[in-house]
Amino acid sequence: MTERLNGKKEKKRKRSKSRCPVFSLCGACSHIDVPYEEQLSSKLGSMIKLLGKYAHVDPVVGMKNPYHYRCKVNAVLKQKYDGTIEGGNYSEHTHKIVPVEKCYIEDVTADRVIVDTQKLMSSFKMKVYNERNGYGNIRYLMVRVGRQTGELMLIIVTRSPVMPSKNNFVKALLKIHPEITTIVQNINDRTDSMILGNRENVLYGKGYIEDELCGRRFRISPRSFYQVNPIIAEKIYRKAIDAARISPKDTVIDAYCGTGTIGIVTAADAGKVIGVELNSDAIRDANVNARLNAVENIEFYNEDAGKFMEEYYSEGGRVDVVLMDPPRAGADSKFLNTLLKLKPERISYVSCNPITLERDLAILTASGEYKVNTITPFDLFPFTENTEIVASLTQAEEKN
Ligand code: SAH
Repeated sequence: MTERLNGKKEKKRKRSKSRCPVFSLCGACSHIDVPYEEQLSSKLGSMIKLLGKYAHVDPVVGMKNPYHYRCKVNAVLKQKYDGTIEGGNYSEHTHKIVPVEKCYIEDVTADRVIVDTQKLMSSFKMKVYNERNGYGNIRYLMVRVGRQTGELMLIIVTRSPVMPSKNNFVKALLKIHPEITTIVQNINDRTDSMILGNRENVLYGKGYIEDELCGRRFRISPRSFYQVNPIIAEKIYRKAIDAARISPKDTVIDAYCGTGTIGIVTAADAGKVIGVELNSDAIRDANVNARLNAVENIEFYNEDAGKFMEEYYSEGGRVDVVLMDPPRAGADSKFLNTLLKLKPERISYVSCNPITLERDLAILTASGEYKVNTITPFDLFPFTENTEIVASLTQAEEKN
């Protein structure tokens, strides 16, 4: 899946004496100087205000150690006049690069690999692509880490496929960081803010890593979507699945399934699982993941979730449980209206945007058909303003 830089605008706090040296420029985490307990209680306050009318809101599930949780780290590269290569993030709202060597929320090893790769690239006299004059080749670095497996993938994004002295470079880098399990060159000649292009050359190892979540194994390719904070993601999936009280006779739809994580974890308890996802790369990964875990009672459909629901309904399909995890825009009316017609007994709604969750809960409860039983917020991105939520619903007149 594609990745966009600086996707999120965050509110500005007073940035005078931050413990993060680039706080005033970077803008990735607006709450870096707020004590963690205070962050959690302020998030809970906002969620009660917004969602308290539907059900009791549980305390926010946070992290024991909220630092260095990001298992995916990107760096935009820049070449200084003396030839040395520096990496960092684009500054908030601008295209200037803020040098970042250490970050409170990024994986520590990933940061070290990025810094040492830059140093080695400087000594190999590699040239960073310059947007203004079109010279140079190297553009971005990305590191993805499997928290459970310890596998580590470095992705070097270049503008053209030609990368002089790449074999010697890889050898030298592996000497410094033997923990790197795979290195991939990704070719991206686009001029927009997408980091990854469509072409890849594997320079070392398998070209992907694997990680474990809820006891299942998942493949992470350079472009695969995988939650950047798997420690909390695991808790979110567990909550969504447990709240839906799935039994072996149940047919379950995992809508907006991405690479199939929630559906694959659910499959062992369910009769049958149907995953639906718009992105074809994600569906390819989902099928790989199902095979990797020897899950046979799951099938994936590469379609718009709303359209799929309509077709499923019109063909007389029935469903006991719907697990849904839509993007920030929430579910559309096609999806929600058909959900009300399909009448699953239980729904678990995983949301990354409380505003659209509130809107969708209003639609699902308006007719009196569904009631919200639990609302549990999760701190998937400590030090930022985001809150992830699991809301569980049942038919107002429960049959069992
Ligand atoms: N449940 C997954 C992914 C959730 S992210 C996980 O936890 O890993 C939301 C997903 O919805 C993305 O994979 C996105 O590609 C997908 N999506 C966005 N719009 C969609 C639509 N209209 N129909 C189906 N899937 C959609």
